[in-house]
Amino acid sequence: MGREVKRVHIDFDMFEREKDGTWKGYLLDRIECPLCEGTKKNLKDKACPVCYSEGEVSPTIEPPTGWDLEKTSGYQIWQDVSEGGPVSPVFLKPEDLAQWMVCNDNSVTRDTTYEGWLKFIKEESSAPSMAMMGNGLQSGVAALNNEEDK
Ligand SMILES: [Zn+2]
Repeated sequence: MGREVKRVHIDFDMFEREKDGTWKGYLLDRIECPLCEGTKKNLKDKACPVCYSEGEVSPTIEPPTGWDLEKTSGYQIWQDVSEGGPVSPVFLKPEDLAQWMVCNDNSVTRDTTYEGWLKFIKEESSAPSMAMMGNGLQSGVAALNNEEDK
């Protein structure tokens, strides 16, 4: 199970609605490819660059980030099992999120310290890949903890 930090809109209340639920924006039904309309090829008779010749695509709706990251977006921890979903509420400050994780986390990362979470949240959320479904934070948090142990 992996963990990652996402910047999401402070009013995104998915966690409050459905604790440990999967974000259904990642589970939408496949639709006919909007470019090739199911023919699997583009007009130049090459492989369709949208669906990679499958004729269908899986639409994805990312959680909202707001227009101004600094003003309207907070930090939230996500898990990447079963497609992904939030495992914490959204907090404006990394410090508040780190504190919440220390008090409420009872998953595989429960041994992570406040300092470990804070470091992870700040470093991961400033990485360019933060909005992607990455390798997850299991390795990230573990690596941080290993650093702390030395
Ligand atoms: Zn296509």
